[in-house]
Parts: sequence; C-alpha cells; structure tokens
Amino acid sequence: MPASLQANLEAVRQAITSSAQRASRDPSAVTLVAVTKTVAVERIREAVMLGLRIFGENRVQEALPKMDEIGPANIDWHLVGHLQTNKIKFLEGRFQMVQSVDSAGLAEALDRRLQSALDVLVEVNVAEESQKTGALPADLPAIARTVAAASHLRLRGLMTVAPMVSDAEQVRPIFRRLRSLRDQTSHELGMPLPVLSMGMTDDYPVAVEEGATMLRLGRALFGPR
Ligand SMILES: *Cc1c(COP(=O)(O)O)cnc(C)c1O
Repeated sequence: MPASLQANLEAVRQAITSSAQRASRDPSAVTLVAVTKTVAVERIREAVMLGLRIFGENRVQEALPKMDEIGPANIDWHLVGHLQTNKIKFLEGRFQMVQSVDSAGLAEALDRRLQSALDVLVEVNVAEESQKTGALPADLPAIARTVAAASHLRLRGLMTVAPMVSDAEQVRPIFRRLRSLRDQTSHELGMPLPVLSMGMTDDYPVAVEEGATMLRLGRALFGPR
C-alpha cells in the first residue's frame, strides 16, 4: 500500500511549517500547487476532497480531458510545463495561471489570442541548463516588460525548475538568485511581483527557507510517477 494522499499532505504541511519557522516566515504565505501529470482523475478528486485548490499540469492536451471529467469544482488550474503556441487557443477560461512564459514572442502570442485576463509567471532557467526551457536571466528584463505591457496578461512573479542534484542544499543558490531576480524585476517595473514559484518534491524545504510563495509538488503528494 502506498502512503495515503492524506498522510502525504500532512507530512508536506509539516515540512512547510518547519522550514517556514526556520526562516521566520508565515507558513500560510506558501501556496501549494498539486502537480497532477500522469495522476488519474480519481486521485485528483481525492485531493480536492482533502482541500487542495490549485492543480498544475505540464501538458495542455493531458489537462483538458481531466478538467472535463472533473467538471466545476471550485479549483484553479495552472500550466507549469512548456507552452507551445499551437495550444494557446485552449487556455481561455480553463487555466487560471500560466507559470511557464519564457519568451517575449510567446507573451505576445498569448496576449493576441486571449479575450480575458490571465495570470502569468515568467519561467527563468536560472542555472542556464542548455537542455531546459525557461528564459535566460539576461533576457528576463525584456520579457517581463513585454508581459507587463500586455493588456490580457497579469504578471504575478517568477518561476523556476531547479537542476536535479543529489543534495537539495546544492540548489539553494538557485532559489536565492530567483528571489533576487524577482526583486530586481519588481523594482525595474515599479510593480509588486508577489509570486515566487520554486520548490518541487526533492527541494521544497530549501525553497521555503529561501522565500518560495508557491510550491509545485507532484511525487511528495501522489507518490512516484
Ligand atoms: C512535474 C513537475 C513538477 C512536480 O515535480 P515533483 O518532483 O514530482 O514534485 C513541478 N514543476 C514542473 C514544471 C513539473 O513539470
């Protein structure tokens, strides 16, 4: 028997609280996004029953049938994976946030297509890993300006996927850097950017210590994929 979702959720909440306390932060300032790629609808329903309210998917084509099956449930969906421009037309009214905007071109294409406002994060490839999506830190200012100027996009903050490492301590500098990029961008644009989406199953306690306001957790909640 795998650990129950309820037990996993409790363990995650406890870990968030300990990390927040270590950093003198309020644990309620950390929002949990349950990442449900490959997770069956039954288990998503269970998560909804346990009070989870934000769900993340990384592929639009996997998310849409799940959304249809679950129906109206007073939950939000975030796109956390790379967005292809040919999928933009499916986002309206379905996703409440796109966490993975990583180019000015994508931001412009989104803005052209949308009829109503959408929350977005700019995804930053902080470690500049060549195989990864996300904007290079050097390109962030221009992308952030484009998003901020778009009439249908609401820039809320930054997101990153930290490199895979054997010890989560090794990615602490990545989280620090994202936070400082957020502070700089906020200063340059003269607007608050409250969301720092960083921290996944293998590194979220460190992310909380470094100021994450949003965690994207898959395996910590639902078990191995
Ligand atoms: C899969 C995924 C997650 C969750 O990963 P876990 O390690 O299972 O917590 C978070 N963010 C993105 C972008 C993902 O693709």
